[in-house]
Amino acid sequence: AAPAVTLLGLGAMGTALADALLSGGHDVTVWNRTAARAEPLAARGARTAGLEEAITASPLVIACLLDHASVHETLDPVAASLTGRTLVNLTNGTPEQGRELAAWAEKHGIAFLDGGIMATPPMIGHPGASILYSGAREAFDTHQATLERFGVADFLGTDPGLAALVDLALLSGMYGLFGGALQALALTGSEGISATEFTTTRLLPWLNAMLTSLPEIARQTEEGAPGDAANSNLAMQAAAYVNILDASEAQGIRPDLMVPMGELLHRAVAAGQGGKDAAAMVTLLAKEA
Ligand code: NDP
Repeated sequence: AAPAVTLLGLGAMGTALADALLSGGHDVTVWNRTAARAEPLAARGARTAGLEEAITASPLVIACLLDHASVHETLDPVAASLTGRTLVNLTNGTPEQGRELAAWAEKHGIAFLDGGIMATPPMIGHPGASILYSGAREAFDTHQATLERFGVADFLGTDPGLAALVDLALLSGMYGLFGGALQALALTGSEGISATEFTTTRLLPWLNAMLTSLPEIARQTEEGAPGDAANSNLAMQAAAYVNILDASEAQGIRPDLMVPMGELLHRAVAAGQGGKDAAAMVTLLAKEA
């Protein structure tokens, strides 16, 4: 039979995780601060329990709460009941918070994995979902089959901060892209251009075409010596970029989301990198650069 699992936190994500475990035939015990939120899951076969009883019901306890503070608020008073079990924290956090929680777990004799969910709730348990893990290798190996109910389970390393770091790097990529897309919709919207038509016929094909240059940027970044630009040098880009800011202002659109990239382009030119490709800007993001 599939092993017993306890899930703490039944928001949109916790509920999706619990459902994936139920579909996999696990004996699932759930707890949520607001108890009423557990009722739909109980109707689908989960066992509901008080916090301490929920924790002691399974060797594997998964927490999916709002943030780091809510994890401590919930688990600090019941740390002793977690001793000897595995805690998997799927609450979004920073690498430092992951390491802090790992040290806390070690102090209480709890095997610990920190995780980063790279999926939205409807994706959980379906192709395209992946979850990043770091921390106790043995705990990952023991529970891997269970964790794969949610999606691809990737173990990144024993430093418990790694999953959060890679998670936040991926979210950085997403938000950067989305920020630009929102600006594009505001700009085209200022002239009454259809957002849906613009998105399907222009924005998506353009972004897809431009994303193909990422592996080359990555290669140059890894080599640490970006070469001279063959096609689109940074001095040219800095000159054109100002037009995005000016046109936004003129159309009554805030340029705020786009301003930092313009500053970075100008810093690159000032640093003598005007003839280089985009990869030359990665090192300029270091605080001491
Ligand atoms: P929701 O806002 O839907 O749910 C938040 C959950 O946290 C609820 O169960 C809530 O309990 C609980 N909670 C909040 N504060 C406390 C507290 N102080 N003590 C105890 N429980 C508390 O969020 P999601 O379920 O969507 O997200 C959960 C985690 O998953 C977050 O860290 C999020 O960043 C991460 N995540 C979410 C994704 C998504 O697309 N939804 C994608 C990837 C990661 P109550 O019902 O009592 O309020």
